[in-house]
Amino acid sequence: MPSPSFPTDPVALAQDLIRCQSVTPADDGAQALLVSVLEGMGFEVVHLPFGPADAPTPNFYAKIGIGRPVLCFAGHTDVVPPGEGWAHDPFAAQIQDGRLYGRGIADMKGGVACSVAAIARFLQNNTLKGSISLLITGDEEGPAHFGTKPVIEWLAARNDVPDFCLLGEPTNPSALGDTIKIGRRGSMNAEIVVRGVQGHVAYPHLADNPIHRLLPALGELTGRCLDEGTEWFSPSSLQVTSVDVGNPATNVIPAEAKARLNIRFNDCHTGAALSEWIREVISRHAPDSEVTVSISGEAFLTQPGPAVQCLERAVQDVTGRQPKLDTGGGTSDARFISQYCAVAEFGLVGATMHKRDEHVDVSTLEDLTQIYLTFMERFGL
Ligand SMILES: [Zn+2]
Repeated sequence: MPSPSFPTDPVALAQDLIRCQSVTPADDGAQALLVSVLEGMGFEVVHLPFGPADAPTPNFYAKIGIGRPVLCFAGHTDVVPPGEGWAHDPFAAQIQDGRLYGRGIADMKGGVACSVAAIARFLQNNTLKGSISLLITGDEEGPAHFGTKPVIEWLAARNDVPDFCLLGEPTNPSALGDTIKIGRRGSMNAEIVVRGVQGHVAYPHLADNPIHRLLPALGELTGRCLDEGTEWFSPSSLQVTSVDVGNPATNVIPAEAKARLNIRFNDCHTGAALSEWIREVISRHAPDSEVTVSISGEAFLTQPGPAVQCLERAVQDVTGRQPKLDTGGGTSDARFISQYCAVAEFGLVGATMHKRDEHVDVSTLEDLTQIYLTFMERFGL
């Protein structure tokens, strides 16, 4: 067996990852690069492609050690398209004035590189008693059906769920040390179609105006205070996003009216209960109606226990800043992990994620690596 090699420099690894043009669903060698680095450190890697046989989503799970606890770093290698108007080549990984530019450096190839570099430093200097793993998907920015979700289900089926998962998404709005995410709000969309009877406005008794049914129904939905918020979550919010009739005539009662809404909800609710409520309200106002609901993710919360406190202290010790524990923002793959395993999110500064000229300060890559390393040293590995 060749002697292990330890890639302790997060900057070089992040640059190599940026140069793979892994715009979802492409991979362009990003995962093979990580796999070879991890195998070089002694990790065992299982490739876990899921989805259609002709175009499966690349994912892998890598693990070193056989003991407990098992700490898992989760992340994704895919990135969103660069779009137009960059001043720097989005896939060249140029460093200028102390900044590293590239699509995905913040979200989240930089975070992945820091976790690998931190693991390398840890393995160089410590005897591993627990286990370290990485759960890496190639479809976080896309539909995410065949990424983290089936991988964590695969781990659960093998009774091999980690004890704690650290997801390196860019959680900090403006400076490293701002925010650790310990949960996320749930999100759901509903499409409502109300049918009436078309007719002449002068003869309303011969028609049934679907708008007159839809509007009070929406009024009832928006009139309810869903909750007051909780210790960790802001109040849930229902927003009507569209009301469509498309009636060009002034003298016709239309046959149909449509609306769409989105709810961002905290852990006082479940998607199923909210769906039930929407259906009940709509059908009471408009018996001839159809409601189509899609739940993008349930709300979840990791109660801040010892692992989260350990992460908080590591952030504090390296950055000198007290991170806020937060549950705001959109959803992430933590929604899938949280079904099986306590998960927190902490990564780089996300100010430029998904934007043109995405970049991070090079120094933050070293600092994040130190935070992950400090966390590992105190986690009991
Ligand atoms: Zn991301």
